Amino acid sequence: MPYHPFRATVVSTQRLSPNFQRVRLSGLKYMGPRGHIHDLRIKLIFPGPSGLVEFPTDTQENWFEVWQSLDPATRGAMRTYSVRELDRDTGILTVDFVLHTAPGQAGPACTWASSATPGDDIYVVAPSADDESGPGIEFQPADANEVHLFGDETALPALARIVDEWPKTLTGTIHIEVPTAADRQEVNAPPGVSIEWLPREDAQLGALLIEVLSRHRGLPSPAPETEDAPDPDILWETPAFSSSGEEIDPRTSGGAYWWIAGESGVVKHMRRMLVRGAGIPRSQVSFMGYWKRGAAEG
Ligand SMILES: Cc1cc2nc3c(=O)[nH]c(=O)nc-3n(C[C@H](O)[C@H](O)[C@H](O)COP(=O)(O)OP(=O)(O)OC[C@H]3O[C@@H](n4cnc5c(N)ncnc54)[C@H](O)[C@@H]3O)c2cc1C
Repeated sequence: MPYHPFRATVVSTQRLSPNFQRVRLSGLKYMGPRGHIHDLRIKLIFPGPSGLVEFPTDTQENWFEVWQSLDPATRGAMRTYSVRELDRDTGILTVDFVLHTAPGQAGPACTWASSATPGDDIYVVAPSADDESGPGIEFQPADANEVHLFGDETALPALARIVDEWPKTLTGTIHIEVPTAADRQEVNAPPGVSIEWLPREDAQLGALLIEVLSRHRGLPSPAPETEDAPDPDILWETPAFSSSGEEIDPRTSGGAYWWIAGESGVVKHMRRMLVRGAGIPRSQVSFMGYWKRGAAEG
């Protein structure tokens, strides 16, 4: 198992905007990878009713079996997040949480983030610094000439990290749907990269991303989302992996690479537009459901 649990302590919190809470955590000096982080996924373990679980130091390798053996009613919750920043000298990790705290939408992670205070402990499960195999990173432009990224607010931290580490030779476009105009952040686009913010305000979730993608590819306006049959699974497809077991042709050199992350039903809709509608090869796209409307993670 290339991931390990690191016990981490809140050093500061900051309300960035109406729907984002930034939490800085110490204790991550030995967290990896040493190279690019891009959209590295990490797991956070939050305290349950009887506090934070303890992973003895000799359970580093088999932490997941230990986690699974614990009573789900008391062990707390584990959720997936991205790295906004990792300061390797101080071992301070920055995580930006979306605050989806409306009635019926709040979960243990965003509830914890909204009230976290310095001194609170959680576990961060991540690769260790000496692991050079690169687990958990899906941003894979390979030798593409251009890159197009689309994401909702849950993908903003990963998108911002990718922009900070942007490969110098690549041009590209980035489209980010956020709940309100006040949730836009300072993201410095490198030369050759354009960033478009899409404040949702009163629009339907994902509608702006879908519209901008249809404009981008000259595709006809998409059919309403209600035509989708309810799908219990979270979509996760990369140039090298398909959650549905689909065979993927080998990747051809050059061309464009597409990275799309957000609410699973919206991403699925965009997948259909790109792959079926525009004929983009599956090997040039990563489609990732970061959350699912109406379903808790796990
Ligand atoms: C690879 C990856 C990276 C991610 N990175 C980040 C990140 O950096 N920051 C971040 O905030 N999220 C990120 N997410 C999304 C995050 O894991 C989910 O939003 C998660 O469900 C939050 O857990 P929770 O305990 O707050 O809610 P849950 O208990 O999982 O869900 C409770 C309810 O809230 C709803 N819900 C969940 N998320 C949202 C949302 N964003 N808006 C509205 N309703 C929601 C669910 O549908 C459910 O009804 C990432 C997900 C993945 C897979």
